[in-house]
Amino acid sequence: MAAGDFDVVILGGGMGGYPAAIRASQLGLKVALVEADKLGGTCLHIGCIPTKALLESSELYHRVSTRGTEFGVNADKVTFDYPRIATRRDAVVNQLYKGVQFLMKKNKIEVIAGSGRLRDKNTIAVGNTQVKAPHVIVATGSTVKALPGIDFDGEYIISSDHATLATKVPESICIIGAGAVGVEFATLYNQLGVKVILLEALDRLVPLEDEEVSKEMLGAFKKAGIDCRVGVRVRGAKKARDGVSVDTEQGEVWARQLMVAVGRAPRSKDIGLEQVGVTTQANGFIKVDEWMRTSVDTIHAIGDVVGGFLLAHAASHEGITAAEDIAGQQLAPMDQDLVTRCTYSHPQIASVGLTEKQARDKGLEVKVGKFPFTALGRAIIHGETAGFAKMVADAKTGRLLGAHVVGPNATELIAEPALTQLFQGDAWELGRNIHPHPTLSEAVMEAAMAVDGHAIHI
Ligand code: NAD
Repeated sequence: MAAGDFDVVILGGGMGGYPAAIRASQLGLKVALVEADKLGGTCLHIGCIPTKALLESSELYHRVSTRGTEFGVNADKVTFDYPRIATRRDAVVNQLYKGVQFLMKKNKIEVIAGSGRLRDKNTIAVGNTQVKAPHVIVATGSTVKALPGIDFDGEYIISSDHATLATKVPESICIIGAGAVGVEFATLYNQLGVKVILLEALDRLVPLEDEEVSKEMLGAFKKAGIDCRVGVRVRGAKKARDGVSVDTEQGEVWARQLMVAVGRAPRSKDIGLEQVGVTTQANGFIKVDEWMRTSVDTIHAIGDVVGGFLLAHAASHEGITAAEDIAGQQLAPMDQDLVTRCTYSHPQIASVGLTEKQARDKGLEVKVGKFPFTALGRAIIHGETAGFAKMVADAKTGRLLGAHVVGPNATELIAEPALTQLFQGDAWELGRNIHPHPTLSEAVMEAAMAVDGHAIHI
């Protein structure tokens, strides 16, 4: 392709790259999008979407089979059919995949299939084709990380990629890592009656979350029958007795399958970053500023490959920020403090901003408001009363610093405290917003009111 054909070329069409392409096109730029596999990337094909589709089936099965009678629904012989769960998962993904392909056409984005590599600071080579543009956005994402000496075989030792695409479930599974992936799959398997052993190296589940959230999760998981072991050091694993024997400092753990869920690594190798002078950190993530600019003036980078929170919605927002910067319309820089974190375990977890400890460690004087779902009408109706909403505010100014929800629909409830933080609002204002009754959103309101001791229902 000739020089000047495009205003911007984007390497990678996942949840960072394709929204960046759409936003750039909306701003009048001519866009090429290079994708080696499928538009939609990890999130759509082996991440957020298929895993949440699986969880929707497991939750439905679990709820009806274990709680049906309590709700007056006779459901004595409820069974599940995993191949059909997998078929529905694939149908959900395909529907959305078609939607993304349509959006590319609608926005007149030139999609170039193939594996691309930076040739110089304005050129991406895809096979023998050279795609040139004054601006480049790198959005190549990330891949699952393995533990040294424990190689994935896709059958006995699996990653989240294998687990997401599987068409059957094992009788028992050991999961290493109790981050987002670990607790979501622990939930999926537990709800389907699989024996789950969850091993976490640190001293609590979901260690990035507020400490009280971790404690609540441990209680809920134990109650659900998940064998949770924290502070466990894994030394190795090998195939044994038609399963996997995991060697830990605390002894042997055996399960039919082993899933390793210890994080993700950036896809920053072999794409020509070094040759064109793009600076990366020691762990391989590309260094960027708040406008997603790299060390090379023509190149932006977004999504998992730049680190921060490896979340689809963060990637999209970074893509939009980069596209606007390229178009000369700097609306708002990327603010990692405003990224909501959502985990679709049972109970769900969602948070934004600082944990209580992070706020105190920063030397801030904080006041905290907490409201349990046990005291909320909608939660009782719903039959889901485990968990709470917790607001962390600046004691001097009242400004909302962080919000943490563990419990029903937490992932839907977090958007409102996040908006309060975007508007630099106070906990008081969040509590004064009139919430519909009876809804789960009242937990957020009551927790915000509790910051000043004004909660009504506790
Ligand atoms: P993670 O970094 O969130 O969690 C990995 C966990 O493994 C950590 O708690 C860590 O302490 C533990 N660990 C590391 N080495 C260990 C060892 N040797 N033994 C025992 N435990 C060990 O990574 P993840 O859960 O794999 O997720 C990867 C990325 O994908 C994360 O950034 C995550 O936020 C994102 N993700 C998000 C969602 C969601 O938002 N719902 C879902 C899945 C993944």
